[in-house]
Amino acid sequence: MTDTLDRRRAAPERPLLPETVPFDFLVVGSGLAGIYAALQAAPHGRCLLLTKATLQVSNSAWAQGGIAAALDAEDNPDLHAGDTFRAGRGLCRPSAVEVLVREGPARVEEMLALGVPFERDPAGRPLLGLEGGHGRRRIVHAGGGATGDAVVRALLPRVAADDRITVWERARVGCLLTDGARCRGALVERGGRWAAVAARGVILATGGACGLYARTTNPGTTTGDGIAMAYRAGAAIADMEFVQFHPTAYALGRPAFLLSEALRGEGAQLWNVAGERFMARYDPAAELAPRDVVARAIHAEMLRTGADHVDLRVDALRPEVLPHFEALFARLRALGFDPNGQPIPVAPAAHFLMGGVMVDLQARTTLDGLFACGEVACTGVHGANRLASNSLLECLVFGHRAAAAAADVGPACGPPPQGEPVPCLEPDALRRVGDWMFADAGIIRDEGGLRRLGERLSTLPETAERTVAAVIAEAALDRRESRGAHFRADFPVEDPNLAVHFVRRRGEPTERQRWT
Ligand SMILES: Cc1cc2nc3c(=O)[nH]c(=O)nc-3n(C[C@H](O)[C@H](O)[C@H](O)COP(=O)(O)OP(=O)(O)OC[C@H]3O[C@@H](n4cnc5c(N)ncnc54)[C@H](O)[C@@H]3O)c2cc1C
Repeated sequence: MTDTLDRRRAAPERPLLPETVPFDFLVVGSGLAGIYAALQAAPHGRCLLLTKATLQVSNSAWAQGGIAAALDAEDNPDLHAGDTFRAGRGLCRPSAVEVLVREGPARVEEMLALGVPFERDPAGRPLLGLEGGHGRRRIVHAGGGATGDAVVRALLPRVAADDRITVWERARVGCLLTDGARCRGALVERGGRWAAVAARGVILATGGACGLYARTTNPGTTTGDGIAMAYRAGAAIADMEFVQFHPTAYALGRPAFLLSEALRGEGAQLWNVAGERFMARYDPAAELAPRDVVARAIHAEMLRTGADHVDLRVDALRPEVLPHFEALFARLRALGFDPNGQPIPVAPAAHFLMGGVMVDLQARTTLDGLFACGEVACTGVHGANRLASNSLLECLVFGHRAAAAAADVGPACGPPPQGEPVPCLEPDALRRVGDWMFADAGIIRDEGGLRRLGERLSTLPETAERTVAAVIAEAALDRRESRGAHFRADFPVEDPNLAVHFVRRRGEPTERQRWT
């Protein structure tokens, strides 16, 4: 009864037969993966690109540091792959990493050709930055620490100029439409009315789920909707226990404003409130250790000193790199900090979901007609822990592949498709979920906390957010070891027998798979 009432409150009434709008392709989500996939799909047919927010709000538009690609003469795709594997702790899918690092440079060159204003050296070549976990300078960046915004801004006019692409803003997909065998479209709520969008290829690009955490670097729109709808429609999802916490988010705000990895790449240092530079005690690479190591070290130092933050000191940066961080510094100054004189209080925050809707190398999900790219997808490139700046690259490489694969799909001719939309959680309930997730499925997990989280979530109405939070909790409970971003206080070491992916389908037992 409560469930029914909550659903009515949260979702507008849906008519039995909503208006059906036909397109060739439906791209759900207007972050980098969605925008780029739509541009690539458009030559093959009419494309609807939609977002539940506006085009300016997405993780992509908030991305700061840059895009990784082996462009330098001293670098090559094998070195990039090596760094990616090291961060992924034995769980990266080798074939997907190969695709990422080999196609990556061409995709970045394409961005240059499309006019993305990457910062350049005096000879006109892109300036390459260094970030934690990378053994070479390979990060292209733009906008003084506002790379995502610069890329999105450069691509959006191309979307607007392409009359094969229709854009709907503030249009929320409530569920996928399937005919039992194949995905055929989606139900979309727009301005309080529902429409059925029919498409021969549906590309999910809805981003990750870290907006479900109280302390997060993500916009509040990043609530795992695409994962929930694909899971409900019968598609397999994988690696959901792997949530990356960014080590250095501004400690005093929500969403937690990110202090890019690139700052540490250029010499910024971490100090605890007792005045100790501590990272060398945790890892020989000190501030340049992989994200999970730095995040746990900061967490430990916060517990040890009883403080709610550690300090990021940027006064060690060389003067010539300061212009690369102009957008960041402007934001800090607006918060009352003089970045050159004052340490910045930072603490870890939920940042990136390595798991998601399982796809093959062509971005095909296990449900015919449904493709996924960007953070919503689990290609396997990140394994147990993403290497910095590999995700915008993944959006481009697999967005390209998703569009190509969708273009190959013929028209559908099965029985009429069906779907039942799920509502969103009320803001108060969502805030509670955020606190529960941060406490019990956060940087350090254990069986007691994860069971408590599962019980708490079971008291909530059936929504997309609850589905995704519950799957993260279950997956974290199943993985009885520590690996990459997933750390279990009760199983603190890596178990060589668990170098496998946990794959889940709704209503079926979890499968363990090895990916090649
Ligand atoms: C602060 C910050 C800094 C980062 N910096 C970097 C970096 O420097 N380099 C890097 O590689 N990565 C970085 N990342 C990670 C990277 O930005 C993301 O992984 C990537 O942008 C994801 O892109 P996406 O297109 O998959 O999804 P997003 O950009 O998250 O876009 C998702 C889209 O889906 C829409 N959507 C969601 N649900 C629905 C629904 N139900 N109906 C309709 N639309 C829906 C959203 O409105 C949005 O338009 C950063 C992330 C953050 C938060």
